[in-house]
Amino acid sequence: MKPFAYDRATDADGAVATVTADPDAMFVAGGTNLVDHLKLGLVTPEHLVDVSRLPLDQVTEREGGGLRIGATVRNADLAAHPLVRQLYPVLSHALLAGASGQLRNVATTGGNLLQRTRCAYFQDVTAACNKRDPGSGCAALSGWTRYHAILGTSSDCLAAHPSDMAVAMVALDAEVVVLGPDGERRVALEHFHRLPGDRPDLETVLEHGELITAVEIPPLAMARRSAYRKVRDRASYAFALVSVAAALDVQDGVVRDVRLALGGVGTRPWRARVAEEALVGGPATEAAFAEAARAELAAASPTDDNAFKIPMTRSTVVAVLSGLAGEETR
Ligand code: SF4
Repeated sequence: MKPFAYDRATDADGAVATVTADPDAMFVAGGTNLVDHLKLGLVTPEHLVDVSRLPLDQVTEREGGGLRIGATVRNADLAAHPLVRQLYPVLSHALLAGASGQLRNVATTGGNLLQRTRCAYFQDVTAACNKRDPGSGCAALSGWTRYHAILGTSSDCLAAHPSDMAVAMVALDAEVVVLGPDGERRVALEHFHRLPGDRPDLETVLEHGELITAVEIPPLAMARRSAYRKVRDRASYAFALVSVAAALDVQDGVVRDVRLALGGVGTRPWRARVAEEALVGGPATEAAFAEAARAELAAASPTDDNAFKIPMTRSTVVAVLSGLAGEETR
């Protein structure tokens, strides 16, 4: 590992100023992803600014409803928080589906949003990878793509976004609060991660030096009945082949409102807007859920390795929405 300077930040403005002034500086919080990347030589910062002790570790109710989640709230604490479990069970379920207990004890909310892809070629410094080394090519295009995305891909990159937490948050219309040298701004999580296009190395809309300070989730009554289902190769500590986050409001057999997002299939946490539109005002039936999933997946471009994700996504969407619709009528 290349040597680097290390500072522990005591205030957010100071941390932002330090990193903004140094193009070779990076923030570190839980370090569960970044430290691996330092060891693998994927990133080689000269200076790390540790933001893990900043006073951003609280979950608070917002005036008017919803939650503000500090950027350094640990994944385990967020999953167990009584307000999260009560108001947004989908978020608690998604967090508990991610990583391992040890990792969840350390990983932070802000860091979870910024975790990088697990594409094997990205993590192998000897392989061509446009995300790690822009313009070098993409070894995955002729390689092993079982875990890769089928939605939002480009001819330069088809890496899937690995987060479970972000899939639930994007379904809940979360906003990311960002502090930069010119002050604070908010970004809808749905637009926080970029599609790869011809610049897969640019993963989010953050500028160098900008720090995530919180994630805010608006009030959503129907989210009290929400669910996350993750399909994976083994029961724990595995990334999603397909995951579905959903909240559903059904009255008299008709879908009044729905939130739906997909993981494991998108190059970013994938809000399934096409499916949502197809569902609202229609019958809450398995056939309608399957048809909505089909509409969302019409834009998919799978490889031979991951074409199984199309029927898997469809059946997972049907299972999750049918479960929620069943709870509504009980
Ligand atoms: Fe790199 Fe993306 Fe290709 Fe993976 S899929 S090798 S991350 S460019």
